[in-house]
Amino acid sequence: LPNHTAVVSHIAIDIGGTLAKLVWFSREAHSTEPGGRLNFLSFETEHIDECLEHMRRLKDKHVELNGNGNGDGRRPRNDLCVMATGGGAYKFYDKIRDVLGGVDVLREDEMECLIIGLDFFITEIPREVFTYSETNPMHFVEPSENVYPYLLVNIGSGVSFLKVSGPRNYERVGGTSLGGGTLWGLLSLLTGARTFDEMLELASQGDNAKVDMLVGDIYGTDYGKIGLKSTTIASSFGKVFRSKRQAEQEAEDSGGRRHKDHHPHHPDSPHLSSPSPPPSHASDDETPPFTSADISVSLLYAISNNIGQIAFLQSQIHELSHIYFGGSFIRGHPQTMNTLSYAIRFWSKGAKQAYFLRHEGYLGAVGAFVKRQP
Ligand code: ADP
Repeated sequence: LPNHTAVVSHIAIDIGGTLAKLVWFSREAHSTEPGGRLNFLSFETEHIDECLEHMRRLKDKHVELNGNGNGDGRRPRNDLCVMATGGGAYKFYDKIRDVLGGVDVLREDEMECLIIGLDFFITEIPREVFTYSETNPMHFVEPSENVYPYLLVNIGSGVSFLKVSGPRNYERVGGTSLGGGTLWGLLSLLTGARTFDEMLELASQGDNAKVDMLVGDIYGTDYGKIGLKSTTIASSFGKVFRSKRQAEQEAEDSGGRRHKDHHPHHPDSPHLSSPSPPPSHASDDETPPFTSADISVSLLYAISNNIGQIAFLQSQIHELSHIYFGGSFIRGHPQTMNTLSYAIRFWSKGAKQAYFLRHEGYLGAVGAFVKRQP
């Protein structure tokens, strides 16, 4: 919560399939300076009640301070303004109104909010938009008015591709269901990780060559003629079956105790070293051919490469050279941004560029917020 003297005048919420993103404006009640600060907070949509409770406390603070004439002797502020977008703005509409008792909740279109939020970031906020490269992981781009047309790739639970031709002028030109929710869901099945951040942490320690079939595995070298390095992924997870069988064979040869028809995908499988202590039935001399970390990075690459490739193709079809990536999937994670950037650079032969945002997960919430600003 803002400190006890902060006045909250606007709250915007974007309730997606996975996360509910909250943005609110607060300013010091006793400050004579204009302006204030934007606050950002997210909750799992599954725990929407905690989020609504937080909003209720913000609202109570607003009422308390406005009831006292703001405490600053100036004219009373307008009523609290609450904007809601995302699917949850519909699904939870009655609930939001109930919890906030009497406050009007304005519902806003999700896609429109996304691009209004992005436009606001691109055109007005310094040190928000950046490009990524391994040598310069956060190269900021100055705010600019001349931004259209561009492609917005929003990677949330699912993925949307939006062609933006001008302010509030956009078209959803594509989508894929292989998005952030896919990574989150599959890694929860395949690894012991319990949270999204744990999965990213695992990915940062993994080696995808343990599970992915690389060009080098097939050719023994690179395939320079068509521009493929030996480390290029030929088949995501393509080496798993072979590695597993080899390991089983070796275990059998050395008189290993493992049951032949042990379920291969069970999380307790000795092949998958989970963050928790290894399962007790794994014999000590058995080295797993790959770990949860290797699986995590492989799937992160698979999902990101796929989105990068589709983004490039969409940008070709619609003749767009600027490609912005938003959505909480990115989460400022270097491997994700590197993969997306690399895919755009590689396929466009250096002609196109991927752009990222510091508040990548809050485009919709910020859009709903600025849409109703006077
Ligand atoms: P949506 O609006 O569909 O909820 P978001 O832009 O909020 O989409 O992104 C949700 C995705 O972000 C998840 O599928 C997951 O990949 C990733 N993510 C980032 N942080 C978290 C988190 N704390 N919990 C779950 N998923 C997260």
